[in-house]
Amino acid sequence: MPLTDYPLIRHILTLLKLCEQLQNNRINTDTFNTAIASPYIAHAQQEQSVRAVLSNRVLSFSQTHFKLTRLEQYLDSTPTLKAQFKSIISQPPPRQQSYDQWLRFFNDCLQILGFATDRTLSSTEYQLFNKYQASSLGLNQLAQTYGKVGISQAISNLEHWLSQVIFQAQSAKTPIQILGSLEAEGLYYDAAWVLDMTNDFLPAALNSPRFIPADIAQQQQIPHSSFELIAKDAQDTLNDLINLSDAVIFSYAKSHQASDRQPSPLLKFETETQILQHKYQNTDLESLADIQANQLADKQVRGGVGILKDQMACAFKGFAHRLNTRIFDDPHIGFDRKEQGTIVHNALQYFYQEITSQASLLALSDEALNTLIEQKIALAIEHYADTGFKTIEKIRVKELMQQFIVCDKQRESFSVISTEQTINANIAGLQFTTRLDRLDEMGNGDRIVFDYKIGKPSVASWCGEVIKEPQLPIYAISNNTQGIAFIQLNADKVSIKGLSKDPNSLPKQSSRNSCLDWDEQQHSWHATLNTASQDFQIGKAAVLPTKAACDYCDYDALCRVEK
Ligand code: SF4
Repeated sequence: MPLTDYPLIRHILTLLKLCEQLQNNRINTDTFNTAIASPYIAHAQQEQSVRAVLSNRVLSFSQTHFKLTRLEQYLDSTPTLKAQFKSIISQPPPRQQSYDQWLRFFNDCLQILGFATDRTLSSTEYQLFNKYQASSLGLNQLAQTYGKVGISQAISNLEHWLSQVIFQAQSAKTPIQILGSLEAEGLYYDAAWVLDMTNDFLPAALNSPRFIPADIAQQQQIPHSSFELIAKDAQDTLNDLINLSDAVIFSYAKSHQASDRQPSPLLKFETETQILQHKYQNTDLESLADIQANQLADKQVRGGVGILKDQMACAFKGFAHRLNTRIFDDPHIGFDRKEQGTIVHNALQYFYQEITSQASLLALSDEALNTLIEQKIALAIEHYADTGFKTIEKIRVKELMQQFIVCDKQRESFSVISTEQTINANIAGLQFTTRLDRLDEMGNGDRIVFDYKIGKPSVASWCGEVIKEPQLPIYAISNNTQGIAFIQLNADKVSIKGLSKDPNSLPKQSSRNSCLDWDEQQHSWHATLNTASQDFQIGKAAVLPTKAACDYCDYDALCRVEK
């Protein structure tokens, strides 16, 4: 195999790439996580757990690349890595240098990282490392032909060079040889074991050549062309096998792949070997009902809304919250949906913290309104780096806010009581906190709670046997509220979709939904949410997803449902 197909060599190349990225302070997430998990660098075993936590930190950035400064505060937990990175960064190489100088730099990097020092290398690894050291000298040859190059070019050429080197590890001499019967003819051993002595092997089957008449084939003694020849060949082969050693054992398996085998008629098998019992026998399989976990002990939980939502969608998905696993977003370029949602939420929060009633909203001039929107967006997005994505995002959010404020101006009169308020909820004994986007009091005294959504929310997600979006229903049954509504904020449409006791408390709504009237609906929410909470607490964990529950679920590796 080429050298680059061996893990040890791939680790070396990854570590060199990390050295390059540390110099440029633009580190690739995959390279970093592979490099710090390498078993070949110093203190790999000692810092194994903390390095795994560090990997999780990097994954939580959800970025393809990051700067080391972003990780600085977490590096204290991995002092060896921290010292190694510091040492690599403190010796910046020239941007361009000859191949032999790069080779020296690469060797220095591997030395700083303590390559092959954390444990004794296996025989193959040792040979591979030696082979790498010998092969990498090829860069010196390149130095004689080529001038100065950058580090990327040097690593790429090293990788190409190594990919041309074929490597086969030398194994220790073994006293056993495994041969076919033809190869074994004429050899002599201390002992020999001839396997598979079935009637398929000896004697061979009659097999006349196709295009030679049978009599001519027999005359010319073409192998397998007559029974006499076959009998003679079989006897010769048997004699050769018997003469392999003074101690020869012949054997055959009585069955193979569910078919019975017959012994060769040339031998008489007298003893039957007992099948050896394994030292460790498989235990009998047990059945375990895995639809029920233990009763929940601590009733104060994090992520309560998400838990109840998932418990209703699929009991196993709800149960999986107990495992405290973290799910990381895929690395992305620009802003992902979560970040876009946060920016819109924050901009609206800052806006309505200042404009607290419809009267003050209406009193704003167009110019003042525009300025205020721009200010609040700038505040919401300020901690993101200045990029073209940021400029586009500002324009996008401004358009959404402008459209929404037109809607808001047309509502009945309201005052904003709170924004982004944290509330405590208790659903059938399960206690958790949740955040509300906005709570308004209408002119008629009704209280309406709002949830900003950048997708396409539907009122139907509150009604029916499964509550797909339980946040507002949870608030509604825990507080004095007379209505709940989504504020849809996306490029397709900006609108308010809700359900209220007094229809006048919200803009006119479509009557095509499966919701009951306000009081009945609240009773229904009570019953459904209490059942979900009790199911979670008693540990119901059956893998029974509702329609579309698996679409955005990351627990398929645990429940083993094939999505
Ligand atoms: S993948 Fe589907 S079945 Fe598995 S836990 Fe998630 S929702 Fe349930």
